[in-house]
Amino acid sequence: MIMFPELSRKISMMKPNRALLFSILLLLLVPVTAVSADKQKPKLVLAVVVDQFRYDYLTRFRADYHGGIARMLERGAVFTDAHYLQFPTVTAIGHSTFMSGATPSVSGIVGNEWYERDNDEHRPGQVSSVSDPKTKLLGGGPGLTGSSPRRLLVSTLPDELKMAKRSGKVIGISMKDRSAILPVGHMADAAYWFDADSSNFVSSTYYMSKLPEWVQKINADRPVWKYAGMEWTALDAKPGDKPFCSMTAGAAVPFCGAIELTPFSNEMLEDMAEKAIENEQLGTHDGTDVLAVSFSANDYVGHQVGPDDPRVRDISIRTDQTLKKLMDFIDARLGEGNTLVVFTADHGVAPVPEVNNARKMPGGRLSSASMARIVSDALSAKFGKGNWFLYDNSGFVYLNYETVTNNHAEAVEVRRFAAEVARGLPHIARVFTRDDLLRGGAAADAVGRSALLGFYGPRSGDLVLLPEPYYMFSETGTTHAMPYNHDTHVPLIFYGAGIRAGVHYQPVAINDVAATLAALLQVETPSGSSGRVLTDVME
Ligand SMILES: [Zn+2]
Repeated sequence: MIMFPELSRKISMMKPNRALLFSILLLLLVPVTAVSADKQKPKLVLAVVVDQFRYDYLTRFRADYHGGIARMLERGAVFTDAHYLQFPTVTAIGHSTFMSGATPSVSGIVGNEWYERDNDEHRPGQVSSVSDPKTKLLGGGPGLTGSSPRRLLVSTLPDELKMAKRSGKVIGISMKDRSAILPVGHMADAAYWFDADSSNFVSSTYYMSKLPEWVQKINADRPVWKYAGMEWTALDAKPGDKPFCSMTAGAAVPFCGAIELTPFSNEMLEDMAEKAIENEQLGTHDGTDVLAVSFSANDYVGHQVGPDDPRVRDISIRTDQTLKKLMDFIDARLGEGNTLVVFTADHGVAPVPEVNNARKMPGGRLSSASMARIVSDALSAKFGKGNWFLYDNSGFVYLNYETVTNNHAEAVEVRRFAAEVARGLPHIARVFTRDDLLRGGAAADAVGRSALLGFYGPRSGDLVLLPEPYYMFSETGTTHAMPYNHDTHVPLIFYGAGIRAGVHYQPVAINDVAATLAALLQVETPSGSSGRVLTDVME
């Protein structure tokens, strides 16, 4: 509190209890601060993730953005150096971090899939981040298993809103189950995703006993059929330019494949989001409703062709237009300035190795399975025969403890030796053992720290093989998962209600989003958040 010298002298001359009383009176007269004021809260938080959208897609294609992305860049709080902190950088982790602020080391979401030594059926095996045998799929084939946020160990921002009774409705939508479920969390009213087998939007019995009528109607109208026979042509195609692909197989132009692999599925998803807003009356309840939308097509396209292909440019520009449509729709219903938008991506992507090699850049393809085989052979030679590994997934390897015991070996010694062998494999930059990571001894630099933050003891593997930059565990196209900037560096923009426009160049983490939203919405910070409040965004 600032006091004038004269006044403070007067106070100091008063008897102590009178001075105290005067100070209290003065405090009461101090203008009401932002925290104590019940500021107008946004009616809706629109949390947008584009699946696989590198930061540089904002700068490379900036001249072609005139829609939603352009609006956010011009009027939002833009962070130019926002990163994921963990390794691996994959969809489930990006989406769980976004609204929880928690790294995998705390959230327990250590990958899209992992190996559970003791899962629900007491049958060890691969699980997905959202697989849940206790639930059933709603809207897909009968009797199929559903999905839920059960494996997420922490709360999300929407959970905190719900626990504080500050939110009417929370809904997540995506083409992928994990991307619909993980951002909204445990207490969400619904998550909807696309089931490729039935071509329907589906949910699970975790949320409800049957699909709401409006979702049933969307499915009855067969949303995919609208795109039958359509061609994906570049927005700025010149006369005579061939389309990228056609939704009709056997046509003169190549077949696009499933709708997920085209920008049409982003349009379909945007339409679904509009219907959710309309039918669930989002933004009209007491408190702040949340709609999380994750656009998946960019990831499917990007995996196939890589960041340097014209199709990635085209789908990025289309995403800008799709977002404009959604933002305009919301503003028309709720009025401008009543929605708080957060825009980011779950990860970036590496260049296609062959594209890189052609321009004298490093890179190449590695096989996780054949590397595991080489290490396994070395273990057999040293410790004795047996099936040494239960599971390997892109360099994350799970040891078979039965084989360890059968050969009277020590797991720590087996891991140490296996890591030593793996370190000799071509283009493997580092190998972390479970023992290194549990001790926390790996965190000598940013890359070591990212392995530590991506590791959760009860679920993670025994060995982690990290390739050199631009090398990947993928046979075709390209992928992401690495702790290098092409995968960690993503857009982060806050826009709308309560947000001050500006460009911020200091490094921030996507983990900061949840803490920042919690501060803006005046609820508790999600339980596992390690982020900080980005005060620069506040109006
Ligand atoms: Zn991906």
